Order: sequence, then C-alpha cells, then structure tokens
Amino acid sequence: MPELPEVQTIVDDLNAADLIGMPITGARVFWPRTIAEPSAKLFCQQIRNRHFTAIGRRGKFVVFNLSNGSCLLLHLRMSGRLHLVSADTPRVKHEHVVLSFDDGRQLRFHDTRKFGRIYLVKDPQRILNRLGPEPLEKNFTVKVLAEQLKRHRRLLKPLLLDQSFIAGLGNIYVDEALWDAGLHPKRIAASLSLPEIKALHRAIPRVLNRGLKNLGTSLGTGEPNFYSVARRRGRNKDELKVFRRTDLPCPRCESPIERIIVGQRSTHICRKCQKI
Ligand SMILES: [Zn+2]
Repeated sequence: MPELPEVQTIVDDLNAADLIGMPITGARVFWPRTIAEPSAKLFCQQIRNRHFTAIGRRGKFVVFNLSNGSCLLLHLRMSGRLHLVSADTPRVKHEHVVLSFDDGRQLRFHDTRKFGRIYLVKDPQRILNRLGPEPLEKNFTVKVLAEQLKRHRRLLKPLLLDQSFIAGLGNIYVDEALWDAGLHPKRIAASLSLPEIKALHRAIPRVLNRGLKNLGTSLGTGEPNFYSVARRRGRNKDELKVFRRTDLPCPRCESPIERIIVGQRSTHICRKCQKI
C-alpha cells in the first residue's frame, strides 16, 4: 500500500505536470463504487468545467482543491495508481475513473484491487480531521509524540499504523522506523522512556525522508505495487534495512532479520537490536 513517501511522490509528479488551472472538460466513471461520495453521476456533473487550484497531501490522501471551493480526496488504498496519458491512449483494464482535460490529456485512476476511493466534498475536514499529526510537519514535536504515547496501553506497531494516531505511516515505514529507533514492535506505547521517544521521533522523519528522496518504495519484481504518475518505480527498496529482508543480516549487528506477526501484520525485526 502506498504510504506517505509514495503518495507525496505522486503529488509532486502531478504538480510538475501543469494540471493546475487546466479546465476539466469531463469525467467518466467505469466502476461506480470507487466514488465514495457523491454518486458517480453527481461526481461527473460537479467536476465538469472546474479546474484544480492546488494539489497536496494529507496522510495517505491526495488532496485536489477545485475552483468551486470543493475538494477531491483520493485514497489509493492497496493498489491505486494514477496514469496521466493522452486522451487517444486506449483505456486499459482497471482504469475506473477518467478525468479529461482541455489540453487533450486524461488523468486515469487505475486500481486492480478496487479498494481505492474518491470523495468529492465541500468540506474536506469532515474526512481529514480524523487523521493524526503529519510526521514531517514542525508541530510533530517530541512533546506531542510523548503525550500521545503516554495515553496508550496498545502495542507500538499497531498504534503507529493507526492513522488517527499519526498520519501517513504503513507497514513498510513503521518496521523501518522501529528498527532505526531500536524499539520492539510489541512494546507497550506508554512504557517508552524519554530517550526512546526521542529516538522514535528522530527515526520516523528519517525513514520517511529517505523514502521521499528515493521517490518511494516499489515492491515486487514484476508488476510493482507502486508506480509514480510518470510510471517510475521508487528506488527505496534497495535502502530498506529490515522490511521484507527476512534471514538477511541486520545492517547494524549482522544478526538475521526475523519475520514475526504483530496485530495480524507481517513485521520484520532484528531481535538483538530491538529488545522487548
Ligand atoms: Zn541488529
């Protein structure tokens, strides 16, 4: 699933593609359930003849501001991708929503697993205010993290995956951040000492920024799970320290990386560097 660095890479590609201000001449929806709200029919009516005024990110949502003051929110979920192509490019299977622009290009939402969702709403905060702090923003301080951790008796990994606790993290970057901070994923959140909280607070932006610099993490050898809008694979897989590196040596101590299950999620740790 695309996480913060992958979604930001998509946002950066969209911003580089000169879509801001370009009139949207029409929309077509081939899989109505992709449009979470309003109905597919209303979606097509309401987006026609508008244009994007800004494209950004909140958590794992791509946020498109529209010229009529409403907002298109896109969540890619498991397998969603955006294709920016010329209108005469034949539509391929799994391209469920197509926006046409005045200059002859189309932005197509491609989603093999069909879990991705689009919301066209007047008030985006109704959906976005459920999200926790942005880990790369200045207001994500040690104090904020410490106060949040103190309130929870939950295990560290499921808590960090919870989008209402902190926005944008998923399985890859949580495993990487916990290894970086030397913390076991089954530690109780409220039990962390101040030095441990500081280590986690340093580790989260460090692994996210590394992912951003490498334009995201594409897994899989054939059809990867993440492509940028420009159909690039991210390079971050080569710099992962533990995620999907079972039995390979820990880059810090050379013990073999282990795969365990935490909160039903596959989790990768170095048992020596991350003591419970
Ligand atoms: Zn180690």
